[in-house]
Amino acid sequence: MYLRGIGPKRAELLDKQLGIRSYRDLLFHFPTRYVDRSSIYRIADFSGDMPMVQVRGRFVTMTEQGEGAKVRLVGLFSDGSQTMEVVWFRRIKQIREAYHTNTDYVLFGKPEVFNGRWSMVHPEVDTPQSLMAAQGLRGVYPLSERLTAQGIGTRQIFGWVQGILAATPTIKETLPQHIVSRLGLVGLRDALMDIHNPPSNERLQAARLRLKFEELFYLQLDILRYSRRRNESVGGFRFTRVGDYFNRFYFEQLPFPLTGAQKRVIKEIRADMGSGRQMNRLLQGDVGSGKTLVALLTMLIALDNGYQACLMAPTEILATQHYYTIRELVAPLGVNVRLLTGSTRKKERDVTHAQLLDGSLHILVGTHAVIEDDVKFRNLGFVVIDEQHRFGVAQRARLWNKSGALPHVLVMTATPIPRTLAMTVYGDLSVSVIDELPPGRKPVTTLLRYEDNRQQIYRAVGRELKAGRQVYVVYPLISENEKLDLQCLEEGYELIRETFPSYEASYVHGRMKPAAKDYQMRRFASGEARILVATTVIEVGVNVPNASVMIIENAERFGLSQLHQLRGRVGRGAAQSYCILMSKRKIAADTRKRLEVMTSTTDGFVIAEADMKMRGPGDIEGTMQSGIAFDLKIADLARDGQIVELARREAEALLDADPMMSMPENAVALRELSVQTSRTVDWSRIS
Ligand code: ADP
Ligand code: MG
Repeated sequence: MYLRGIGPKRAELLDKQLGIRSYRDLLFHFPTRYVDRSSIYRIADFSGDMPMVQVRGRFVTMTEQGEGAKVRLVGLFSDGSQTMEVVWFRRIKQIREAYHTNTDYVLFGKPEVFNGRWSMVHPEVDTPQSLMAAQGLRGVYPLSERLTAQGIGTRQIFGWVQGILAATPTIKETLPQHIVSRLGLVGLRDALMDIHNPPSNERLQAARLRLKFEELFYLQLDILRYSRRRNESVGGFRFTRVGDYFNRFYFEQLPFPLTGAQKRVIKEIRADMGSGRQMNRLLQGDVGSGKTLVALLTMLIALDNGYQACLMAPTEILATQHYYTIRELVAPLGVNVRLLTGSTRKKERDVTHAQLLDGSLHILVGTHAVIEDDVKFRNLGFVVIDEQHRFGVAQRARLWNKSGALPHVLVMTATPIPRTLAMTVYGDLSVSVIDELPPGRKPVTTLLRYEDNRQQIYRAVGRELKAGRQVYVVYPLISENEKLDLQCLEEGYELIRETFPSYEASYVHGRMKPAAKDYQMRRFASGEARILVATTVIEVGVNVPNASVMIIENAERFGLSQLHQLRGRVGRGAAQSYCILMSKRKIAADTRKRLEVMTSTTDGFVIAEADMKMRGPGDIEGTMQSGIAFDLKIADLARDGQIVELARREAEALLDADPMMSMPENAVALRELSVQTSRTVDWSRIS
C-alpha cells in the first residue's frame, strides 16, 4: 500500500484477487503472454476467439447510455476499416475527461461480439506517442475481472513493477553464484527486468529459463533433502535370502515364463530389499503387463526372510480377485493367505487379527481395511500397493505404524506418470518399469462409433459371443438422470438381455452390496455369464483373459486415463480384442481429439503424455490424489521436462558436495529454501 498509485484499497484488492502482498509478490507476478507492440490489428480483420489485440484509431462519438446503476459510457471507435463499440461501466467521469474524440489512440483489449457488432470492454488506452517510446514485447498480466473494473490493468501492474525495479538498483541474487556462473544463467535482477519488459525475444527466453530453473531447483532441493534425511535416519529390513518359498514357486508353480521386463524388475526390487535401506519403489507397467506376478514373487522373498507381506488394493472387487489369484498360486507351497475388506465378517476378522499377531498368517490381501488401527502385524516387512493413484498420501502414511518399523513399499500403477512429473512428485522414489507385454498379445483395436452404428456393432458382438468370447459393456451412469442425456446401466442391461437372449449377463455397479458384487463378478470370471454390464467400478485390475470386446457408452464423458484403464480389461488373452467407443456425433473439438488419441495408440505412456498436455499436470495430480499442491508460477511440468532434469542434477550435485548446506557459497540456497518452499507436505512420507 506504500507503493505509489496503490494505497490501502487497491492493496487489499491485489491481496484478495491475486495474493499479492509484498514487493516481491508483485515482482514475481509474471506476464503470461506477450504482444508485439508494433503489431496493430484492423477491426475488419477481427475474428472470434481472438486474444488481446491492439487497434489504432479515433473515437467518433462518446455517449453515456442507460440509467442509474446501469449507466455506461460507450465510445464509437473507428480505425478506418470498420467501427466498434468501446464500453466502460466504471470510472465514467474520469474516462470522459481523459479521452477525447478526434484524437489518435491505441487500444489494447479483447475483441468481443455484442449485439451483433464488435466491442471492447474496459480496454487499455494509450496515445501513439507513449507507445512509440516503448519498443519490443509487451507483457500481458493475469488479472481478474474485478481488478479490470477497478482500473487495474496490465499497464498499472507494469508501472508498479517498473517503480519497484527503479527503486531497487540491487536485488540480492537468490541462486548460489557458482550455479549461476557455471550454467550461464541470467542474474536475478536482470531476469526480472527482462521478463516484465523484454527488449528482445532472446532476452525474454533467457529470463524465463533462469526463473523456471530457480523454481524447479528449489523444489528438487527440498524433495531431495527430505528423502536423504529419511534414508539416513531410518534403516530398512535387510532381506538377504532367496529361499524355499520363492524358489519352489519359481521352479514348480510358475504358470508361464516371466517376461524379460518382469525378471529385470524383480532383480531391481531384490537389490533394494537387500540394501539395508527402506525401499520406496514405484512399479509402472501398462495394463496387462503382469504386475501381480511381480508382486507375488517379491512377497515370497519377504516370506523367505521370515517377514509378513501385505497387498493393498483400492476396491473390494480388485482385492477379492487378487486374493483368489494368489491363494490358488501359492496354496501348494503352504503359504497362508487371507482377505480383509470392509465387509469381512467379525468372526473371520478375529481369526485374521489373531493370525497376524502370532505370525501364522503370511500374506494379507485387502482394501484400505488393512490400515485400520486394530490391524496389527507380528512382523510386517513388505507392503505392495496396487493401483496407487487411488490411495491418498494420508492413507499410505498409516502403514508406518503397523509394526513399529517401516516396511519396504512397492507401489504399482498402470497410470503411467510422465517422467518429469514422477521426478517432481516423488523425488527419490525409485522407479521400475515393465515395458514389455507377455508374448502373444495383440494390441486392442479401438474404434469410434455412433448411435447409428449400434446394430452393426451388436452383430459383431454376437459373432464374438458365438466364438466363445466374453464382452464388457460400460456405462457412465447407473440409473437414468433427467438432467443428463446419457446411456445408463439399468436400461442398458435390459437392452443387452433383449439383444442377446441366449447368453447370460451379469452386472456390477458401485451401489451394490459387496457380496452381490462378488457374486456377479465371479459369474463373469468363471465364464458362466458371458456379458458384464458395468459402471467404471471395473476400471482397475479386473482380469478375465477370455473377454475380447469392450463397449464404452458415452465415451465422450470419460477422461483419457480412465478410458485407457477401462480398455486394459480386454486384450489380456491371445484373441484379437476390440474396444468400441460409443459417442455422440456432436462433440467438442478437444473431446474428439481425446477419443482420437485412444483410437490411434494403445501405448499408456503416449496416452499419459497426451493427457498431461491436454489437461495440464494439475489434473493428473488430482487423479493421483497425491494431495500435493504445486504452486509453480512459471515452470510448466508438462513442457519444461529438460529444465526439471537440469534442476534435479544441480540439486543432487549440491547435496553431494555439501550435504548439510553449510558451505558459505550455499548459504543463499539454505535461506531461499525456507522462503520458497513453505509447502506443508512431508515429502518423506509420500510412498
Ligand atoms: P496388470 O499389470 O495389469 O496388473 P496382471 O498382473 O493382471 O496385469 O496380468 C495380466 C495377465 O497376464 C494375467 O492374466 C496374468 O496371468 C498374465 N501374465 C502375467 N505375466 C505373464 C507372463 N510372463 N506370460 C504370460 N502371461 C502373463
Ligand atoms: Mg493389476
